Amino acid sequence: MLKDQDRIFTNLYGMHDRSLKGAMARGHWDGTAGIIGNGRDWIIQQMKDSGLRGRGGAGFPTGLKWSFMPKESDGRPAYLVINADESEPATCKDREIMRHDPHPLIEGALIASFAMNAHAAYIYIRGEYIREREALQAAIDEAYDAGLLGKNAAKSGWDFDLYLHHGAGAYICGEETALLESLEGKKGMPRMKPPFPAGAGLYGCPTTVNNVESIAVAPTILRRGPEWFSSFGRPNNHGTKLMALTGHVNTPCVFEEAMSMPVREIIERHGGGIRGGWDNLKAIIPGGASCPVLPKDALEDAIMDFDWMRENKSSFGTGCMIVMDQNTDVVKAVWRLSKFFKHESCGQCTPCREGTGWMMRVMDRLVTGDAEVEEIDMLLSVTKQVEGHTICALGDAAAWPIQGLIRHFREEIEDRIKAKKTGRMGAMAAE
Ligand code: SF4
Repeated sequence: MLKDQDRIFTNLYGMHDRSLKGAMARGHWDGTAGIIGNGRDWIIQQMKDSGLRGRGGAGFPTGLKWSFMPKESDGRPAYLVINADESEPATCKDREIMRHDPHPLIEGALIASFAMNAHAAYIYIRGEYIREREALQAAIDEAYDAGLLGKNAAKSGWDFDLYLHHGAGAYICGEETALLESLEGKKGMPRMKPPFPAGAGLYGCPTTVNNVESIAVAPTILRRGPEWFSSFGRPNNHGTKLMALTGHVNTPCVFEEAMSMPVREIIERHGGGIRGGWDNLKAIIPGGASCPVLPKDALEDAIMDFDWMRENKSSFGTGCMIVMDQNTDVVKAVWRLSKFFKHESCGQCTPCREGTGWMMRVMDRLVTGDAEVEEIDMLLSVTKQVEGHTICALGDAAAWPIQGLIRHFREEIEDRIKAKKTGRMGAMAAE
């Protein structure tokens, strides 16, 4: 279990002073100019050596992403854009940073922007996060007043401005190119890639889009060294991570933990165990709505990291887990996610626009059992036709939960259909 002295976020629960004074007392903004004085290449190499993988879900190596930005400007400015659109159902970790511990994020924005030759960064915050925006804006104002932002930011010799932009509450604006469109004042619709943002991003200029947590952990990594950060977790899965537990655990919470902890240990230690005990567990969704569900049988030796989840046909995602006990109607739970993705599709490409609605309507009938058994395979084949055939990953995100459901709970779906046909539905519901 992660020791207190190894926590990056020391005010996650808002128990301490979240102002600049409090943040400095906890070690933030310590030697920022010195870190910047080490130069761009040093910063990027340290980030690469730390093994940090993006904390927004995709897990792309952060240092490598930074290195894609042009070393010399061709006349165009460069930008850092921080994705604070956290809209994935059950994911609520960045929120705690923004409302209770915002200074690591602001300091990280300065350092990361310097490393990428950017004099300006934008934080795009989710529309529903009103109090978080207020807290973050207050922290930004404080940093300006203290000379940590603006001209010669933190006496580093680097001029840097940080802007907070409030979204209108659309899930798709968490997709990096839709976010850029929205930031430019247009409808939040994903762009075709290439060009990738590092070549032509915000206003057609080189841009890196990073998750809030990825940026907020950077100053501490640079202060304590990449060896310290990479001492946590298995190879390729290094570091500490903000994770969350929601659903049928005794104490739902957000917490910081070392990567690669066993799932069971996480649930027992942080979640206070499953409601009704471990044997009452039915399934989990490991890291956000798009991650395929995993049943209890697969979880006895499960490890909470990118590689284990991928090897077991799910995904680590944001590390924010939904826990479901035996009382859960898992078919209905996945139907609810289908409804969500259908609602949030931007409608730009046909497989997603039509496919998400089609999949949801079949799921409607699987919930009530008003379907034919053969439709299960038909639904599976439609998910494969949507997956990988869309402009952005929302199509995949809508397909994967259904694939996971059919992979692990086919019998439950079939039983329901058969029960409906034989009129045993009432007995099933009473079980
Ligand atoms: Fe829009 Fe869906 Fe296509 Fe993404 S996959 S661009 S959300 S229609």
